Amino acid sequence: MIKPHPTTVLMYHAVSDADDGRSRADAHYSVSQARFLEQLQLIRDAGQRPRSVQSLLLCPQASAVAFTFDDGDVSNAWAAQALHDVGGSGDFFVNTQTVGKAGHLSWQALRDMTAAGMSIQSHAHTHRYLDELTPVEVVQELHTSKVMLEDKLGCPVELFAPPGGRMPAGMHLTTKRLGYKAICSSRVALWRDLRFDDIPRLAVLRGTTSLQFSKWLAQDRVELLRQRLRYSALTSGKQLLGKTYYERVRRGLLRLASGGR
Ligand SMILES: [Zn+2]
Repeated sequence: MIKPHPTTVLMYHAVSDADDGRSRADAHYSVSQARFLEQLQLIRDAGQRPRSVQSLLLCPQASAVAFTFDDGDVSNAWAAQALHDVGGSGDFFVNTQTVGKAGHLSWQALRDMTAAGMSIQSHAHTHRYLDELTPVEVVQELHTSKVMLEDKLGCPVELFAPPGGRMPAGMHLTTKRLGYKAICSSRVALWRDLRFDDIPRLAVLRGTTSLQFSKWLAQDRVELLRQRLRYSALTSGKQLLGKTYYERVRRGLLRLASGGR
């Protein structure tokens, strides 16, 4: 399948106001409802339409912007409704172990979102980092989540988003073998037609400005390079500092990179 144009693929976590009380997501990753509606308007103004990656794999569209959400935060039901209200869709990557737990979407909410045309996909069974697991555990994470989602929602689960964006070597072979079509990774780039099995994404954070967002829609090269440098600074920091220490300083680095907000 050939994509007609590079596609901007957005990655959200919670879409929630800080004082919501229900969402348990890290505030740094939470986009407010007002900001989310503003971003939908920017997409309309740019003559583009919100779509799920899953729908674009089936039916490529030049004017599409792909919406993805990681972690199954309870606030994602509101975001799904907002997408539905503008005739759009998105992919929601959930951890099957936390479905129905405090702060997370319930199975009923996922069924309602499926009925509204949303794509529900796998973010593994737990949120453990796959590069810290044995190969057998990795297979269990991918297989259990896929089977549970397909069994409870009755829809094909074909996409996988690795927790924390972290993957062991050979991950694409494992996902293919288990029946996944593609991985939605944390690699920073546009989705081009050459690498269908690794779909890069741009993380929308609380500090993402309207100007930045508009540049992502316009696929501005300088802005994308800036995002890529920020991401490689974060990942090389992980290698240099060691994973445990890295986790402690990661938040500080992210805040600096996004302008201290
Ligand atoms: Zn996650």
